[in-house]
Amino acid sequence: MTFVPAKTTVNIDEYAFWTEDMWFSQDSDQNPYRSLAIMAIGLGGEAGEVQEHIKKEIRDGKIDLDALKKELGDVIYYWARICRHYGFQPMDVIQTNVNKLLDRLDRGTLRGDGDNR
Ligand SMILES: [Mg+2]
Repeated sequence: MTFVPAKTTVNIDEYAFWTEDMWFSQDSDQNPYRSLAIMAIGLGGEAGEVQEHIKKEIRDGKIDLDALKKELGDVIYYWARICRHYGFQPMDVIQTNVNKLLDRLDRGTLRGDGDNR
């Protein structure tokens, strides 16, 4: 990989591609599920860190926005790694989500439960 994101602007597809250089994947040849497990657990862990900041805001009435921003970036890092693992272009994943939500809006099912509404 030779792509290096600019410090000022990077799109999500470029970012996801770049995260492959950041990934410690040398052990994935031995166990192909090891890296995937780390990605999945990492995504949940970082989401939990975001939740902690929001919990503290609710509980204590203050929030460290700089720390929250970094944790949201950590969530995106693992999300991007999972996208790349399965060969998804992140922008396509985002567009698929936009299409799903717009379809639900059109059908009046934006609120409610279940993935297939
Ligand atoms: Mg973190």
